[in-house]
Amino acid sequence: MEINTVGVIGAGQMGNGIAHVCALAGMQVRLNDLSEDRVNAGLATINGNMARQVAKGVIEESARKAALERIRPAFGLDKLVGCDIVIEAATENEEVKRSIFAALCPHLPPETIIASNTSSISITRLAASTDRPERFIGIHFMNPVPLMQLVELIRGIATEDPTFEAAKSFISRLGKTVTVAEDFPAFIVNRILLPMINEAIYTLYEGVGSVDSIDTAMRLGANHPMGPLQLADFIGLDTCLSVMQVLHDGLADTKYRPCPLLVKYVEAGWLGRKTQRGFYDYRGEHPVPTR
Ligand code: NAD
Repeated sequence: MEINTVGVIGAGQMGNGIAHVCALAGMQVRLNDLSEDRVNAGLATINGNMARQVAKGVIEESARKAALERIRPAFGLDKLVGCDIVIEAATENEEVKRSIFAALCPHLPPETIIASNTSSISITRLAASTDRPERFIGIHFMNPVPLMQLVELIRGIATEDPTFEAAKSFISRLGKTVTVAEDFPAFIVNRILLPMINEAIYTLYEGVGSVDSIDTAMRLGANHPMGPLQLADFIGLDTCLSVMQVLHDGLADTKYRPCPLLVKYVEAGWLGRKTQRGFYDYRGEHPVPTR
């Protein structure tokens, strides 16, 4: 089955990135979120990101224009009816995702594939909340989607081969590389990455280092392109906390307990770059550590 029309639910940092790469690859895209304002903000981000790609010579201006024309706002899940695949990239919260699938399924013909971009939640469990577990799959893009080469593919227990093959060829049309992960909490990348970030937050919490010293240590001492606290801000601290909770609940091991300082930042609404404040304050010209 060839995928030509893609529905994307959630126009946040991941959803707008997925819409961006699908449109540039020649696919029609329908972009959905809770409100017109959020969809429009997503479209504005895509426009700005594509303009940056033109300025850097990565794409032609004509490709940008054509891609933008392929992305249509979809206010209401009923507008996703003609899609070959619908990718859910809404907030990392199982209840939110389950209620989206419950509202979405009645609008879609049985052959439409549903995918989730979840960072950590069980694909088998999400699939079981739909009317088509055999046509449900985890397609986990990395942030920022236009730049990152990897996509994790995760089969639920019921995912059938044609669904897996369609998802694989969809990702290769996007010019990205697939790695296959089994359906265990947080899959491969986040199973390894998020405990490291959580440990960096413990290091801050226990006063072993400041924000600056921890990030400098890992950039220059471990050759990471970004420090772990900078990366946490980039991912979104709410998403980081959700992933740690899924690891902690799903694997029942205290080594995954979320750092109380991470909880405090999320409770404050300091979610990182997307709210302008997290381990750094982004409201001025340069990011300033908040600790
Ligand atoms: P985000 O907060 O930037 O965006 C989430 C969007 O979902 C928001 O615009 C919100 O309005 C929308 N939304 C919430 N409920 C909705 C509903 N019922 N219907 C439609 N839209 C709804 O978050 P994000 O970083 O884009 O993360 C989205 C998903 O991608 C999560 O599952 C996350 O775990 C996953 N993910 C995130 C990253 C990352 O680095 N941030 C990387 C890979 C995967």
